Amino acid sequence: MLNLPYDNRFLALGEDFFTAQRPAGFADPHLIAANPDTARLIGLEPAQLDTPEFLAWVSGNTTPAGSAPLAMVYSGHQFGGYTPQLGDGRGLLLGQVRTEAGLIDLHLKGAGKTPYSRFADGRAVLRSTIREYLAGEALHGLGIATTRSLAIAGSDEPVIREQVEPGAMLLRLARTHIRFGSFEYFHYRQRPELVQVLADHVIETYLPAAAREREPYTALFRHAVQATARLIAQWQAVGFCHGVMNTDNMSILGETLDYGPYGFLDAYDPGHICNHSDYEGRYAYHRQPAVGLWNCNALAHALSSLIPAAALREVLLEYEPLLLAELRRQQRAKLGLASSLPGDDALIDDLLALLAAGAIDYTLFFRRLCDFRPGADNQPLRDLCPDRAAFDAWARRYDQRLAAEAGSDAERSAAMRAVNPKYLLRNYLAEIAIRQAEDEGDYGEIERLRQVLASPFDEQPQFARYAEPPPDWGRKLAISCSS
Ligand code: AMP
Ligand code: MG
Repeated sequence: MLNLPYDNRFLALGEDFFTAQRPAGFADPHLIAANPDTARLIGLEPAQLDTPEFLAWVSGNTTPAGSAPLAMVYSGHQFGGYTPQLGDGRGLLLGQVRTEAGLIDLHLKGAGKTPYSRFADGRAVLRSTIREYLAGEALHGLGIATTRSLAIAGSDEPVIREQVEPGAMLLRLARTHIRFGSFEYFHYRQRPELVQVLADHVIETYLPAAAREREPYTALFRHAVQATARLIAQWQAVGFCHGVMNTDNMSILGETLDYGPYGFLDAYDPGHICNHSDYEGRYAYHRQPAVGLWNCNALAHALSSLIPAAALREVLLEYEPLLLAELRRQQRAKLGLASSLPGDDALIDDLLALLAAGAIDYTLFFRRLCDFRPGADNQPLRDLCPDRAAFDAWARRYDQRLAAEAGSDAERSAAMRAVNPKYLLRNYLAEIAIRQAEDEGDYGEIERLRQVLASPFDEQPQFARYAEPPPDWGRKLAISCSS
């Protein structure tokens, strides 16, 4: 039996914050994926993933003792405009469990209609469910804060999008599903007392250190702003584009949340727009840091009944320097620079300009850079660059800069391999797994990819083919918002 140690703290906040809602289970479900790593996190043995009880649970067909499913209410700024009423339109918080790692939310996505579904069907398609399942585990493997993935349940139930597609459900884990938009909802409904209840809940449950500060609400806001800045610095360093950075998709604890039309850069293109429906490029790769600040500003408004304007402004001013310092630190690490010297920023920026000009694969370049040897011709790296003269000029500067580093070449290479991933969840890799699942009912590739991406910095020679940049068909896959 799935006896989990439920501790439903959010439920205790009362019905201003959610609507109780049972999942609408799939009639004839089957298990598509289940992740032993996250199962262990919540105290499940891998063997339990193969049981009928587990499938019934992740397909919305049973509500185990202690679980109290609910749809959370929130609102948010979507593409810059305020939408007063959003909420879990197809996901349900099944409950929260107490673990060694703290409280963990269990959230079932695709579990049917709720009062917040508006005109939509409450379902999720297999394609988007596989993408989210893999992304959560991929970012975690890269050391980036994120929701995690436990399982996918599939069904023959058709779901209508641009085409008719198979439906699926994803059971995901998170520290919290409270979003910037959760605060906005109560603020713009003129319920400051409920903003306060929610803030108290977040502080008490997740930020005990903030509770001991002189201004706990300011400490909460500072935590959100700093966690967001750090998170986005990591996204930028690894080349991750979220795609839909609306405030309803921003976790108050700074975890990557709600994967839709996300993408990782293949060729380095600062203006890359991964969301096919983002016509203006609001959430383009190079705009993510600025959008993060815009979103923190929206959060500041939502908390303005609790925190004086001067304190909000002071904290907002910390965002940009923190993000830049974090990003520069990570970029220096990608170049193997343990120290920081005056010319480093230019060296980094000129390399990025070189990558952009040559449309060079970002991940592959940095992985090969790990083997750079001063004085050598560094042919494998050079071969990636259409403009050999520009590469040679940059390599001479890099070579000179490395002379100022203390460690050996081997030490530098090892340190660089720990920050420059070999494996990345490139769109085409997810697409192969999706096609095999949709066309052949073969789910093996999902599990293989999950395993490869769990250790993205390791060589894993048996999986070397997964480190290849995209074939022609995989370069420009259109990923829309529809999911
Ligand atoms: P998203 O763009 O996925 O973050 O979703 C934005 C809002 O639309 C959220 O309130 C979702 O719950 C809701 N939503 C998205 N897809 C569906 C769907 N198929 N059925 C019901 N609500 C949905
Ligand atoms: Mg969302």
